[in-house]
Amino acid sequence: MKKSLTQFFALVFAMSLLTNCIREKPYDLIIRNGKIYDGTGAEAFEADIAINGDQIIKIGDLQNSKAAKQIDAQNLAVAPGFIDLHAHIEPLLTLPGCESLIRQGVTTALGGPDGSGPWPLGDYLDTLETVGIGMNVAFLVGHNTVRKHVMSLDQRAPTADELAQMKQQIEQGMKEGAFGISTGLKYLPGAFSEVDEVIALSKVASAYGGFYTSHLREEGLGLIDAVREAILIGREADIPIVLTHHKVIGKPMWGKSVKTLALVDSARNLGLDVMMDQYPYDASYTSLSIILPAWARAGGEEAFRERTRNPKLRDSIRSGTVFNILNDRGGADLRRVQFAKVDWMPALEGKTLHDWAISKNMEPTVENGADLVIEAQLNGGARCIFHVMDENDVERIMQHPQTMIASDGRLVAPGMGHPHPRWYGTFPRVLGHYVREKKIITLPAAIHKMTGMPAKRLGLADRGTIAEGMKADMVVFDPEKVIDKATFENPHQYPEGIDYVLVNGVLAVDKGKFKDHRSGNVLKKN
Ligand SMILES: [Zn+2]
Repeated sequence: MKKSLTQFFALVFAMSLLTNCIREKPYDLIIRNGKIYDGTGAEAFEADIAINGDQIIKIGDLQNSKAAKQIDAQNLAVAPGFIDLHAHIEPLLTLPGCESLIRQGVTTALGGPDGSGPWPLGDYLDTLETVGIGMNVAFLVGHNTVRKHVMSLDQRAPTADELAQMKQQIEQGMKEGAFGISTGLKYLPGAFSEVDEVIALSKVASAYGGFYTSHLREEGLGLIDAVREAILIGREADIPIVLTHHKVIGKPMWGKSVKTLALVDSARNLGLDVMMDQYPYDASYTSLSIILPAWARAGGEEAFRERTRNPKLRDSIRSGTVFNILNDRGGADLRRVQFAKVDWMPALEGKTLHDWAISKNMEPTVENGADLVIEAQLNGGARCIFHVMDENDVERIMQHPQTMIASDGRLVAPGMGHPHPRWYGTFPRVLGHYVREKKIITLPAAIHKMTGMPAKRLGLADRGTIAEGMKADMVVFDPEKVIDKATFENPHQYPEGIDYVLVNGVLAVDKGKFKDHRSGNVLKKN
């Protein structure tokens, strides 16, 4: 009897030790005293957040709890990690740390925009998992990618067999993990496709729960029809759509965002699921070839060269280019076209088409500009910044409740060419310039546009908001200091005011310093 009583008390003692031990076991990380913007658009609240592993475990008053590591977020904002819905992350294998996006607070990026994307997707995703990457990535399957596989750069409709092959490839991409289909209808070979083809392929993506995101067929004179086309595709293919990097290009169209946003509203009123994303700049960045007429480049670069040797065709190419300089991405002024990446003449990087004309002793006329564009294309092309948007359109689009923030930036490191500043500054610029300085949108709204909204579009149930049980993708920043530093003149500048970034619970930015921990995951839809 006595022995068993001793045993009983020994057991009780052991159990109390155990429960004490469980209660006192410190969390991996506690973020204390921050103002939490939870990503839903709600106002901030003050609380502590405890994290174990890659998960948010507890939110509340945790002053009596211990943690292996603590962050004092007094006077700082705590938000879900930003989700970049339009990212050119093709250099992932050379820049797997993803510093240029992570230092903006981005913890998840969606690749494969504008109709392009890695192929075959499944193999590529396997490689990324093996290499290890700094942030979470997801991908779209590209219309241009599959059209090129099946039809090269042919300017014609697909045969029934070719369409079947493209559908099969979209299906393969969706099965291998794509979140939807992207189109780049301004680019080759997407520009050669009719709407029926895009609808047929989008139906396949829709069947797998994907969404449709489009670099529209036109963003200048043809913008209104292009928005209508995207909405038609959404309706006919029964697929949620995103008008990506929504903007208004070229002086004749400035102010027309009133119309495009009205089209979005009326489509939504009819029950269509239409959203937009936007980068916060009044200049775009793309290939210089965008101001050449598309037909001139059908069949590829050799075919283009051949056409320029035919005086009659060359004249048509020149007049088509003059038209685009006047009405579209040329902005009617050669100073609005700035070279960014020129492999055959790096000295041009940072200079404008106007500068190049002057250096060649040419009058900086629109006609001479067109000749120079053709010359540049024959030399191997160039990437350019086009200063052709109106700030009023940028702000109006940003204020629309269905507009998300996305960078359209390429992964980059200091010294690589002369990039668009959005590659380094998109998210801090919205928070510092448009929220704090210009008061265009509120801080909770801005964070919602960077987190909860894109997470919902992607269908990510465990990211994009701060709540117990969610993945610990987070950013801690100073709302009074956060700002972009990259400019068009001096783009290789990291932003300021982003103090901590957590990717799956791991500090990828710690006290403002980047840490190359590669804690990102490859996300797959199916
Ligand atoms: Zn684009």
